[in-house]
Amino acid sequence: MKIDGGCHCGFIKYEAEVNPEKVIVCHCTDCQTLSGAPFRSVVFAPEEHFKLTSGKPKVYVKIADSGNEREQTFCPECGAPIYASSVGGHPRNLGIRVGSIRQRDQLVPKSQYFCKSAQTWLSVLESLPQA
Ligand SMILES: [Zn+2]
Ligand SMILES: [Zn+2]
Repeated sequence: MKIDGGCHCGFIKYEAEVNPEKVIVCHCTDCQTLSGAPFRSVVFAPEEHFKLTSGKPKVYVKIADSGNEREQTFCPECGAPIYASSVGGHPRNLGIRVGSIRQRDQLVPKSQYFCKSAQTWLSVLESLPQA
């Protein structure tokens, strides 16, 4: 499926072709800290199916406890996360941050990871007062 997206301030814009069957939710503590949210939703796409049409993201290399390195890219102006990927290697697979995608309402998660660190209150969201 063709998608397009970008950061909050408009400096970064991109187009991509993603597989809507490959949308996940990640509850790992790194995703919580890096996104500023209780969990993160990601859709994967091969790097050759991702095209920047404006701007250039800044890269932060995250080193996991395992020693595994992951590039985290974000807008240098507004800080909005764009995608993550391996450091080097080919072909790379990009984990595009679903919140940066204009068609995000169509990208429904199919699985979730690191559920051990998921916030336990997520299950009560449905029952909270809605505005
Ligand atoms: Zn921006
Ligand atoms: Zn994660």
